[in-house]
Amino acid sequence: MAKKKQNSAIIGFVALGCPKNIIDSEKMLAEIAQAGFLIAQDPQSADVVVVNTCGFIAPAKAEALEAIRHAVHCKLNGTVKKVIVAGCLPERLGRQLFEQADGIDAIVGLGQRDNIAQIIRKTIHSNRSVAFLDQSPQTISDDRARLLITPSHWAYLRISEGCNHKCSFCTIPAIRGSFRSKPEKLVLAEAAELVSAGAVELNIIAQDTTCYGRDLKIKNGLSKLLKKLEKIEGLKWIRLMYLCPAGIDQKLIETIAASEKVVHYLDVPIQHVNNEILKAMHRTDTKDRLQRLIENLRSAIPDCLLRTTIIVGFPSETDRQFNELLGFIEWAQFDALGCFKFYRESGTGAADMSAQVPDRVKQQRLDELMLTQQKIAFAKNKSRIGGKLTCLVDSVDNKSTGRGRFYGQAPDIDSICIIQNCSANPGQFIDTKVVGTKDYDLLVQQI
Ligand code: SF4
Repeated sequence: MAKKKQNSAIIGFVALGCPKNIIDSEKMLAEIAQAGFLIAQDPQSADVVVVNTCGFIAPAKAEALEAIRHAVHCKLNGTVKKVIVAGCLPERLGRQLFEQADGIDAIVGLGQRDNIAQIIRKTIHSNRSVAFLDQSPQTISDDRARLLITPSHWAYLRISEGCNHKCSFCTIPAIRGSFRSKPEKLVLAEAAELVSAGAVELNIIAQDTTCYGRDLKIKNGLSKLLKKLEKIEGLKWIRLMYLCPAGIDQKLIETIAASEKVVHYLDVPIQHVNNEILKAMHRTDTKDRLQRLIENLRSAIPDCLLRTTIIVGFPSETDRQFNELLGFIEWAQFDALGCFKFYRESGTGAADMSAQVPDRVKQQRLDELMLTQQKIAFAKNKSRIGGKLTCLVDSVDNKSTGRGRFYGQAPDIDSICIIQNCSANPGQFIDTKVVGTKDYDLLVQQI
């Protein structure tokens, strides 16, 4: 048997960004380990630091640039020898990134993800900065054999890449390319691999999960895929993220309602409800359709919990339109909500629109909306006191306090259940009783 070559360099890895980027980080980590490199616990003590970035909106770019500058600072101090930047930011900025952050040794585009080990070797032996951007990201990668950053009992499962929608605020199609589904066989093989490695919960992700199969001419692609995923023994929870409202049809609702494994929690980013703003955003929804969809989901799936995402301060948004949005949020009673200020991202249609909203107004609207949602979330939490919930344990500390989630809490973005006197292990499902609340979290006791 061929002996695996041991590389002496120690690699530090900084994984930033959304779940899609987490999957890319997990794949790169596996490639790095497979190539025989050691992975440092603390990136500052490594020979080479790889920063896998997000470049979606201004705060994500700022976070990425800060991580890059920190790595470069460690290089100047003599601890780190090379700094490599991968992911969405190099894909978006190209060679300009070398000017935005001095001291980067290599930039790596999305299409070069699986070559990261080779790129590290080349960078170690190079005396000049190199860009590995030449390969187009217009393929769908094989995401099997990852080194999970998430705990082994849950994982992300990406079913497609890119996006064909033309939302006027969004940089994603420019960064991640046009929409392409991962072949069903590959999705199922990856899911089976994750489950056999211990995952009981799979979180289905894409830019818009409802589009699954369209490019492959598969009708009701997501419903068909879910029915096949359900057959995987050992898999308990399938969670659907990023369901664009316009793509949720009756067939999908029926599939979810009838499923024993697809949790009755849906992430449906609506972005806004005012018809003029929706049109300017190039969304195909209308307020009436969104309202009907929410009513329909709640009547077909009575225990359905809904998460959404909102943008405030989109160009030309007036007080009246914002108040209309606020009224809708009060009516819809979402179980969880993420709100962003509109960011003027270069290359998007909305960046050049007139009537940009001042940042002070955006911030006020964001605060008001989040306060409205907070009241809704706190009231919903209070109404759960005394009730029973099945929780998936995520971690337990040395004082037997567990952290876990019931089906209405997605990992990493939602609130959690704090489990008192937890005697179970991470990855186990337990029965609990809700005994109180702590901010957005639920206090539960194992029963
Ligand atoms: S659907 Fe999502 S990823 Fe696609 S353009 Fe719209 S906001 Fe961007």
